Amino acid sequence: MSNEHPHPDHHPNEHHHPHEHRILNPATEEVIATVPATTPDEVAAAVARATGAQRGWAALAPADRARLLRRFAAAVDGHIEELAALEVREAGHPIGNARWEAGNVRDLLDYAAGGAERLSGAQIPVAGGLNVTFHEPLGVVAVIAPWNFPMPIAAWGTAPALAAGNAVILKPAETTPLTALRLAELALEAGLPEGLFQVLPGAGPVAGAALVEHPGVAKVVFTGSTAVGKEIMAKCAAGVKRVTLELGGKSPNIVFADADLERAAAAAPGSFLDNTGQDCCARSRILVQASVYDRFMELLAPAVTSFAVGDPADPATAMGPLISAAQRERVRSYVPEDAPAAIRGEAPKGKGFWYPATVLEATGPGDRAAVEEIFGPVAVVLPFEDEADAVRLANATDYGLSGSIWTRDVGRAVRVSRAVAAGNLSVNSHGSVRYATPFGGYKQSGLGRELGPDALAAFTETKNVFISTEISTEEQ
Ligand code: ADP
Repeated sequence: MSNEHPHPDHHPNEHHHPHEHRILNPATEEVIATVPATTPDEVAAAVARATGAQRGWAALAPADRARLLRRFAAAVDGHIEELAALEVREAGHPIGNARWEAGNVRDLLDYAAGGAERLSGAQIPVAGGLNVTFHEPLGVVAVIAPWNFPMPIAAWGTAPALAAGNAVILKPAETTPLTALRLAELALEAGLPEGLFQVLPGAGPVAGAALVEHPGVAKVVFTGSTAVGKEIMAKCAAGVKRVTLELGGKSPNIVFADADLERAAAAAPGSFLDNTGQDCCARSRILVQASVYDRFMELLAPAVTSFAVGDPADPATAMGPLISAAQRERVRSYVPEDAPAAIRGEAPKGKGFWYPATVLEATGPGDRAAVEEIFGPVAVVLPFEDEADAVRLANATDYGLSGSIWTRDVGRAVRVSRAVAAGNLSVNSHGSVRYATPFGGYKQSGLGRELGPDALAAFTETKNVFISTEISTEEQ
């Protein structure tokens, strides 16, 4: 399946076949494609194909696996514009972001390809023989991806899993399967063996659950909500299946009085409005030292209201719509009509799942909007008194994914970075996701790490082999 619409006359209100998903453009609400929903039987057939393909793949010379993955990367590179345009249409991402996302898939494949030849084990000194370790592939890996960053997050799991010698079955989110399906075609065009990387669109509780429960799947990499992540982890326990979870976040952006306030205020909107706030790393809790609170809010207001919202296909656009009507309802539930927003931006009227940039002043640290993940363009601001208070507030959540610290005091930057219980901190910056550095959550934000130099290790078992060097009795 590609973006070529098999039933171009479908209308959103028309009765539709239960075995397919209609894909909407969230900026216009138009149906842009219908995609078949994979059944549990089809999942089982895909696992069987993957199992066969994986054996051949693992038997290839590491350099050959690396070469094929680099060809896959080159195929993605040759289709950046097409993939980006598809992401604009199915996810409403601004075109500039979508180009970066497609480029990120290429980079992940290139980076992982280099790992295929560097999966070295260890030689460990022991008495009586030679002891070596091997990093062997797990077999078939299921990657269950969310709709917020359909391409990059699919590739975070897929690229290192393939490089380590596994087969991958990717289950994209119901709303965003089109780029994933195109990536599977590009993999085949690049020469990856049939069945090695399969994309199965479908419903989470049907196709996703069938993958999680299938005994032929050795590992599940899941990115999505904490609630579904817990359910998947519990199901994996039945088969002692390996699992990596990237779940929610409610990350703090801590602004100290000694920070460059102009820079901190200018950077804050991007940290919770990028991807319309549908980002597990969104800095959606802005903690500001009380002594500079009013000044910071004065600086923040124009930065938020000037964030360019509109047509995702326009290169000047910084923020598009939310993914779906359901997501907009969820965001609205945190901001009642009469909620006194401290700052509110504009959003297009009419068709599309638009929502304006909104900054709320928390009524207290237990405020629902201050502790729950909203996954929309909404941030909550809270004042704090001193460093200890900032750390206490930052950690007053079950999540622990990311966070930012704005200060000119290098000692404080290090102290607070160490004190905040989160996997990815940035100082005087909001950048925390790079393919070459490890990424993942503390507490209920996740389990395990993705990306970075050790990404392949999460897709291998360590095997230890001891070879006796004792002289045999005949030779003695
Ligand atoms: P969100 O709330 O952001 O939509 P979800 O956690 O519901 O996130 O979805 C993330 C991914 O997990 C999607 O691909 C979805 O189809 C899949 N999914 C949802 N429920 C299940 C489930 N019970 N088993 C396996 N996968 C699921």
